[in-house]
Amino acid sequence: MSDTGDLSLRKKIEALARVARYNPKFTATIAVLGGFTAFLEGIGLSFIWPILEVAQAEEPITEAGGFLGMFLTAYESVGIPFTLEFLILGVAGVMTVRFTASFLVGWFRAILQKRYEGDLRTKTLNAALDAEVGYFDEEGSDDILNSIVTETRYSGSTIKFGVRSMETMFLALVYLSVMFYVAPTMALFALTLLGGITFLMRYVIEPAYTVGNRVAEANETVQQTAQAGTQGIRDVKLFGLTEEIFDSFRESVRQYVVSSISLERNKVGVQNFYDLTTTLVLFGLIYFGFVFTGLSLGELGIFLLAMFRLSPLVSRLNSQVYNLEGHISHLVRTQGFLDELTQRKEESGDRTVSKVERVEFDNVRFSYNDEEQVLRDITFGVERGGFVAFVGQSGAGKSTVVSLLARMYDPDEGEILGDGVPIDEYDIDEWRSRIALVRQDPFMFNDSLEGNVTVGNRDASREEVERVCEIAKVDEFLDDLPNGYESELGDDGVRLSGGQRQRVALARALLKDADFLVLDEATSDLDSSLEKEVQASIEAMDRDYGIIAIAHRLSTVKNADTIYTLEDGEVVESGSHEELLEDEGEYAELYAIQSKG
Ligand code: ADP
Repeated sequence: MSDTGDLSLRKKIEALARVARYNPKFTATIAVLGGFTAFLEGIGLSFIWPILEVAQAEEPITEAGGFLGMFLTAYESVGIPFTLEFLILGVAGVMTVRFTASFLVGWFRAILQKRYEGDLRTKTLNAALDAEVGYFDEEGSDDILNSIVTETRYSGSTIKFGVRSMETMFLALVYLSVMFYVAPTMALFALTLLGGITFLMRYVIEPAYTVGNRVAEANETVQQTAQAGTQGIRDVKLFGLTEEIFDSFRESVRQYVVSSISLERNKVGVQNFYDLTTTLVLFGLIYFGFVFTGLSLGELGIFLLAMFRLSPLVSRLNSQVYNLEGHISHLVRTQGFLDELTQRKEESGDRTVSKVERVEFDNVRFSYNDEEQVLRDITFGVERGGFVAFVGQSGAGKSTVVSLLARMYDPDEGEILGDGVPIDEYDIDEWRSRIALVRQDPFMFNDSLEGNVTVGNRDASREEVERVCEIAKVDEFLDDLPNGYESELGDDGVRLSGGQRQRVALARALLKDADFLVLDEATSDLDSSLEKEVQASIEAMDRDYGIIAIAHRLSTVKNADTIYTLEDGEVVESGSHEELLEDEGEYAELYAIQSKG
C-alpha cells in the first residue's frame, strides 16, 4: 500500500474526481439539489424583510420600492394579498420545499456513499483474491484485511463529509449574498469581526488538539494494560505481575481522567468563548445599524438573521473540512491499494489441463525478494503414482519448492513442467486443481466440518467424505464434536486442536480429485504413533496420484522412492532411504539422531 504521509492537494483532488466519476449523474443531481436547497433557504430568509415591514406598518402594504417592491410585485402576480398571514404561509411553503430537498440530498448522499463503499469492498476483495501471493507476503495479510474491511468504510465516508461541506458552503454563500445585498458596509464590518474571532479561535483550538492526542494516548495505554491483564492473564499470574500491571493500569487511568477533563473543559470553553464574542458582535451591529446606517427594521432583521445563520457555519465548515481531509487520505490509500492489487494480478496461461502424469523441476532458481537465493538449481521429477520426499533443516527451502509447484510464486530461472509443458502456460486454476497441497498450518473456514472437508470437491457424497475422514483419522475425534459432520468449526477452526486441523486438511486434500498430493509437514502436530497410522493408511490407499512429502520426522518418508536432502536451497543428496543411509551423509546423520530420540 502506498505511503500517504503527506498528501498533495493534486492527489486529493484526483481521488475525489474518481469518486465523482463513479456515478456522475447521481453526483451532479446531489450537487444541484444542494444548491437548490441553499437558494430556497435564501428565499425563505428574505421573507423576514416584508414580514417585519408589514408587521410594523400594521396594515397590508400596496406600494413599495427596492427589494420590498420586487417582493410585492411577485406576490401580487400570483394573486395573493400581501398580508402578514399570507407572508407567514408563504414562508412555510418555501421552507417545506427547502427541507424536503434537504432530506433528498441526505438520502441520495447515503445511497451514493453506501453503494460506493459496497462496490469498493467487493472490488478490493475481488482484486485481492486474484492477486499474487507475493503481494500478501509484502504487505501482510492483516493490513490487507484492514484495507478491505475498514479503510473502504472510511473511504465511503468521504462522500458524506464532502456533501456536507458542500451544503455548508452553499448556505454560507447564500447568507453572505443576503448580507451584502442588504447592507454592504455592515456586512464587511461583520465579516471582519467574525474573521477575527475565527482567527482567535485557532489559538484556543490548537491546544485542544494537543490535549486530544494526550487523551488518545492515555486511552491506548489503558487498553494495552487491560489487554495484558486479560489476554495475558496466565503469564501475568505465572510471573507474579499482578501488582505491577495494576499499578500501571491505575496510572494510565489517572492520566486518562486528567487529560479528558482538561479536553472537555477546553471544548466547552471554546464553545462559550465563541458564543460570547458573537453575541457581543450582534449587539454592536444592532447599535451600529440603527445609529450610523439608518437601516429599516426589516433590513436590520434580515441582516442579523443571515449573520446569525452564518456564524455557526464557520465552525461547522471547519470541522467538516477537517473530517473530509482525514477521510480523503483513507480514500487515496484505498484507491492506491486497489490499483496496486490490480497491477499484481496473477498471470494465468490459457492451456487447459485435466490429468497430469508427471511434474518436473528443471534447474529452478528462486528468491522471494531478490536478496537471498532461496532455491538453487533444483531439479527433480515425479510421476503420478510415485512418491518423493524432501528433508532438511528448517529454512532449507522445502516449503518453497511446493509453493512453486502450486504456482504461489514463479521461478526466477529454470522451469517447472507438467507433462513437459511449463506450468505457467496452463490455466492457473486448472493447474492448481491438479495439486492437493496440505500445509502445516491450514486455514479452517467458518463452516461445518463437512463444509471444510468438501472445499475442493463440493459435489462429494457423504460416503466419500466419510471415507477420506477415515483415512485421515478425522473419524477418531468425530464423537468429541457436538453434531458430527455438521459441527460448526468456528472462526478459523477455533474449536479444533492443531492435530485435528491437520487431519481435516488432509481429508480435504484427499477428497479433492487431484493428481499430486503434496504434504508439507502435514502431520507434524500429531503424536508420532498417530502420525504413523495416518501415513500407513495414506500409503495403503489404492492411489492413482503422486505424493510429494516434506517431513521433519524422517520415519514418515522412509518409503519414498526418492528422498532429496535440501541444504541452503540446494539438493545435497538424493536416493532411497537405504541408499542415503549407506551414503552416511546429512540424511544418515539426521536419521541417527532421530532414531536415538
Ligand atoms: P523450509 O520449508 O525448509 O523450512 P522455507 O521454504 O519455508 O524452508 O524457507 C526457505 C527460506 O525462505 C527461509 O530463509 C525463509 O526465511 C525464506 N522465506 C520463506 N517464506 C518466505 C516469504 N514468504 N517471504 C520471504 N522469505 C521467505
